Amino acid sequence: MQKVVGQPCPDCNTPFIQGQKGAYCKSCYIKWKNNQQPAAVAPQPIKADVDWKEVGRGKVKHGFAIEAFKKDMPLDVKTATLINNWTAFVMDNKLGTQYPDEEQTITPEEPAAISGNVPF
Ligand SMILES: [Zn+2]
Repeated sequence: MQKVVGQPCPDCNTPFIQGQKGAYCKSCYIKWKNNQQPAAVAPQPIKADVDWKEVGRGKVKHGFAIEAFKKDMPLDVKTATLINNWTAFVMDNKLGTQYPDEEQTITPEEPAAISGNVPF
């Protein structure tokens, strides 16, 4: 069927317009052109190796650490254990649970040296 400028497109009823190669339906052309595009690159699958429970534990622990900091509690094994025990209570509903590496990460005998002038 010969397309005539101004006649409605049989597919979408949009009037044909004049193009370089004769009358055409711009609406159907755009639709066709979009279908020619290569498929969008598939999004990278979210890495499944995130341990969300540990992430949550860190957030809970952070909350208790902030409270201990506000109370001027020293950063030592006693405070760390208290924070860990409260975290364990919240996360696991357990009392008096210590977490691994606590003794290694907190060394009150060798506190981090503060050198130079502290600006506050
Ligand atoms: Zn059309």
